[in-house]
Amino acid sequence: MYKLSENFYLEELVEPDILKKVGVRARDFLHPTLVVMLEELRKFTGPITINDWVFNGSFQYSGLRGPKCPIGALYSSHRFGTAVDVKCKKQPEEVVGYILDNADLFQMVTRIENPSHTPTWTHIEVGVREGDIYIFNP
Ligand SMILES: [Zn+2]
Repeated sequence: MYKLSENFYLEELVEPDILKKVGVRARDFLHPTLVVMLEELRKFTGPITINDWVFNGSFQYSGLRGPKCPIGALYSSHRFGTAVDVKCKKQPEEVVGYILDNADLFQMVTRIENPSHTPTWTHIEVGVREGDIYIFNP
C-alpha cells in the first residue's frame, strides 16, 4: 500500500489494472489537488470511500480509470485523474451543499455532478477553477 496523505492510499484512488501495469508511478496520473480536496472534505464527512478493492470491497472504478475500463464515458474526468466518486455517511446533497457553502476551502473543485443523479455517491472534479463551481447533469 502506498500512502498519499494522512487518510488516503494510492490504491483507493486508482483502478487495479493501472497499478498492475505501472505501480506507484500511477500517483503521477492523479491531479495533485485531488487528495488535498479529499482531506479537506473528510473534515466534514468523516471517513470517505473511493475505491475499496484493496480491502476486498467492490469499488474499483471510483477514482482514476484506465483506457480499458468498461464503465463511464470515454472522455470522463475519471480517465484523466481529476475525478472521484465519494461515498460517505453524509447524503450527496449535504456533501454538495457543504462544498458550495465553503467554496473558498475548495478552490480546486471545478465541477460536481448534480446529486439528484447520484443517489449514493458524489462525483467531484478538480482542476483550475475560474468562477463558480459548475453543477452538471449527466
Ligand atoms: Zn464519477
